[in-house]
Amino acid sequence: MAEVSRVQRAPDDLFLKIVAGEVPATIVHSDDLVVAFEDVAPQAPVHVLVIPRERFENVAELAAAAPQTLARLVAVAQQIADERCGGEYRLVFNTGTAVGQSVFHVHGHVLGGRDFTWPPG
Ligand code: AMP
Repeated sequence: MAEVSRVQRAPDDLFLKIVAGEVPATIVHSDDLVVAFEDVAPQAPVHVLVIPRERFENVAELAAAAPQTLARLVAVAQQIADERCGGEYRLVFNTGTAVGQSVFHVHGHVLGGRDFTWPPG
């Protein structure tokens, strides 16, 4: 039961509330398709989330329904990494609770600013 209450499922979509300005966030980019904001619990010196304004549960749904929006999301991730960590970064899309997805509004984690290990834990 704890797992169920931890995840954010529609219609209680936390990230839509951030897009609407109903939940505060440190917005670092906003355009007609995507919004980017600082992760509230950063895992690296650079940890920004890039999301579509419209809700899709995961990156495969986004790719199928709105490929231009996915392309924009990736371009914005690159732009943020160029500005903040020399264009070297990890772009992560968690899909499913088993791998750590907790918010079911697709988001790319832009992570950088330190060395990373591989494989990921
Ligand atoms: P994931 O676990 O891949 O679904 O990622 C969800 C991310 O959202 C986590 O890294 C959280 O730290 C982040 N997060 C949760 N709530 C907020 C919030 N209000 N503002 C910014 N980031 C958040």
